[in-house]
Amino acid sequence: MSSPSRRGIGQRLREGEQSFSFEFFPPKDEAGEAQLWDAIRELEPYQPTFVSVTYGAGGTSRDTTVRITGRIARETPMLPLGHLTCVGHTRDELQAILASYAEAGVHNVLALRGDPQDGPRAEWTPTPGGLTYASDLVELAAPDFTVGVAAFPDGHPSAPSLERDAEVLLAKERAGAEFAITDMVFRATDYFALLERAKAVGVTMPILPGIMPILNLGQVRRMAELSGRDLPAEVVQRITAHADDPVGLRAEGIAVAAEMCEALLAGGAPGLHFYTLNRSRATRDIFTALRITV
Ligand code: FAD
Repeated sequence: MSSPSRRGIGQRLREGEQSFSFEFFPPKDEAGEAQLWDAIRELEPYQPTFVSVTYGAGGTSRDTTVRITGRIARETPMLPLGHLTCVGHTRDELQAILASYAEAGVHNVLALRGDPQDGPRAEWTPTPGGLTYASDLVELAAPDFTVGVAAFPDGHPSAPSLERDAEVLLAKERAGAEFAITDMVFRATDYFALLERAKAVGVTMPILPGIMPILNLGQVRRMAELSGRDLPAEVVQRITAHADDPVGLRAEGIAVAAEMCEALLAGGAPGLHFYTLNRSRATRDIFTALRITV
């Protein structure tokens, strides 16, 4: 049996460990990096199952992802999950990035296709010499890495049907993925419907729901844009009722998210994956509302 510190994320989730995990993005400058490390240190006491770092659309942020995950592996007791996308890379380049992850001590990756420049609905053209789908990247990374993949509570915006979307998730599992993390969940029932669809086509890997509380009105629009779908009317109604009161609105956003987290865990979700935006406070507020203390 592998030692506890070497167990991959898939194994930890399969063994029934209730999982909390935190997602960060690669900072652009020194001030951003300091903020990121404050958030990491403030969330470390919650003993997350893993912490993940997203992979940027291009440029230096891509090297930063490998550097930050390597530093997490070296300097903290937390298990890092490095994201990787197919965008703009040949197969050889992807293999080289995987090698640099391994060299940095990162053995868990989230294998993603990534998006065209015009967003998830735009037509996707693979890089010449590169990979077409996330499942190809899963195949490239597994079994040397423990591999996770993306899942979508309302289906990927470009999927022809929800059933087809579930079949894509199954293809990723068959290629070697051991767990999935969902795009932002806005309503617990959407997540449970995804689990049903996935189960119906034969998916057995654990699927973690992605959580991002709404903290201001601008976020309502941005979150809908980012995920390519509208927020549920009942959520928008609860938030916009506090349109003239930013403090009350933030508190309501935390309450909405915490109620959803409670419903998700009570309904059997294997854990909660928090999109932190490199800040710890909202996640800590949700933990307080859930009466989870360190
Ligand atoms: P895929 O699984 O390849 O699916 C993409 C599209 O192709 C879907 O419409 C699918 O139905 C279709 N498809 C897949 N396989 C087949 C097939 N065999 N035949 C026909 N059609 C197929 N983006 C980043 O740039 N960096 C990140 O770090 C990042 N992190 C993310 C983390 C999470 C948890 C999530 C949910 C998303 C993340 N994304 C990130 C966004 C992600 O890259 C986009 O959502 C992207 O549009 C889809 O990626 P995917 O891995 O699901 O692709």
